[in-house]
Amino acid sequence: MKYDYIIAGAGCAGLSLVYKLLKTPELSNKSILIVDKDPKEENDRTWCFWEKETGPFQNTVIHEWNRLTFKNDKFTNTFDLKGYTYKMIRGIDFYIHVLQFIEQFDNVIFVKDEIKSFDVIENIAILKTASQTFKANYIFNSTGLMQPELSSKNTLLQHFLGWEIKTNTPFFNEKEATLMDFSVSQHHGTTFMYVLPTSKHTALVEYTLFTGELIPKEEYRKAIKAYIENDILLKEYEISHEEFGIIPMSSQQFPLHSKQQIIHIGTAGGNTKASSGYTFQFIQKNTDSIVEKLCNDTAPIKTLSLRDKMFQWYDSTLIEVIISGRMSGKEIFSRMFKKLSPEKILKFLDNESSITEDIKIMTSLPIQKFLPAGIKQLFQTSSK
Ligand SMILES: Cc1cc2nc3c(=O)[nH]c(=O)nc-3n(C[C@H](O)[C@H](O)[C@H](O)COP(=O)(O)OP(=O)(O)OC[C@H]3O[C@@H](n4cnc5c(N)ncnc54)[C@H](O)[C@@H]3O)c2cc1C
Repeated sequence: MKYDYIIAGAGCAGLSLVYKLLKTPELSNKSILIVDKDPKEENDRTWCFWEKETGPFQNTVIHEWNRLTFKNDKFTNTFDLKGYTYKMIRGIDFYIHVLQFIEQFDNVIFVKDEIKSFDVIENIAILKTASQTFKANYIFNSTGLMQPELSSKNTLLQHFLGWEIKTNTPFFNEKEATLMDFSVSQHHGTTFMYVLPTSKHTALVEYTLFTGELIPKEEYRKAIKAYIENDILLKEYEISHEEFGIIPMSSQQFPLHSKQQIIHIGTAGGNTKASSGYTFQFIQKNTDSIVEKLCNDTAPIKTLSLRDKMFQWYDSTLIEVIISGRMSGKEIFSRMFKKLSPEKILKFLDNESSITEDIKIMTSLPIQKFLPAGIKQLFQTSSK
C-alpha cells in the first residue's frame, strides 16, 4: 500500500502536522502513517513560547504569564507583555491531546518502530525500519536521521536541567515568570536560570547553559538547589519532576527537504531558532504552511525568502560572537533587555520585526564585536 503521507517522528512537529491535516476538511481523509520508536506516553519536555493570538493547542496550555522578568547582577527589568502572552504546554498533555484526537480517524495508523532509512525511488518516498518498508507520496521527517553534521565550530548546545518543585505554604507569584536570570555564576559560559511559577505552590526552575559541552548531571542539580535556597530563598520544597534537554543552536543550515518527496520538519527541518533555541512557534508556522500548500495541491516544499535568509544570518552571527568569545550571552541579552522594549525583542526573536526594527536591535549591540562575525558568516553562507 502507498500512503498519502508518512509522518516520521511523532513529536512536536509530527503531531502538530497530523493534527492540522486532520482538522482540514480537504485533507482529513488522506491515508496517514505515523512512525515513532517511542509511544509518547511520558512527559519528556515542557514547551514555552509567546503569542498574540490563541493557537491551535490553547486547550493544552497549563499556564500563562503577562509579566516577565529579565535579571542580571546589576539590574532587574520586570515588564508587562504588551500584546503577547507567554505560555506553557507540558509535552504529555500535548501528546495525549493529539493522539486521542487521531483515534477517531480510521485513515491514520501509528506504528511504533525505529526508522532506519529514507529513500526516494521513482518519485515514491520510502521509509524502512529493521523489518518493514513503507511507501508514500510524501514523508514528513522530524527524526535526526538526515541532520547535517554539527560541530563545536558551528553549534552551541543549549542544555538545561529543570525541576518542578512544590511547596506546602504559598510561596510563588504565579502571575510573573523569570525569563532569564543571569545573576548566577558564568564560569561554564553563558548561563542563566529560568523560573516559571505555575501556582502559588508550584514552579519549574531550570538551569540553562549555552556552551560547547555538557556538564555532569550533578552540577546542574547543585546549581538549581543553590539558586532555590540562596537566591529565591526557598528552604522547604519537594521536587516532583526533573527534566533534562539539549537543543542545538547552530549556524549550520539544516536541509529543508531531500529530493521532492522527503520534507524535513521540526528541529530536523531547521525550525529551531539558532539564537534562542525556541522552536514551538516556528513549528506551528511551518506546519500551517505545509497544510496550506497541500490544500492548494502544490508541493509542500519550503523556499527561503530574503527575510528568512536575513534572520538566519543574524542568528548565525550571534552564535559566532558567542562561540568566538567576542561577547558572552549574558552581555548580549543584558544590553538588549536594558536598551530595548521586550515586545521588540520578542518580535525580533519571532522573525517578525521590520528592517527598521532590526536596525534598532543591531545598534543596541557593539558593532566592533558583531561586524567581523557577521562578515565571516556572510562569506560562509554565500560559499555554500
Ligand atoms: C527538554 C526540552 C525542552 C524544550 N523546551 C522548549 C521550549 O520551552 N520552547 C521551545 O520553543 N522549544 C523547546 N524545545 C525545543 C523544541 O521545541 C523541541 O525539541 C521540540 O520537541 C522539537 O520538535 P520536533 O518534532 O522537531 O522533535 P521531537 O519533539 O523531539 O520529535 C522527534 C520524534 O522523532 C522520534 N524519533 C527520532 N528518531 C527516530 C527514529 N530513528 N525512529 C523513530 N522515531 C524516531 C522521537 O522519538 C520523537 O518522538 C525543547 C526541547 C527539549 C529537548
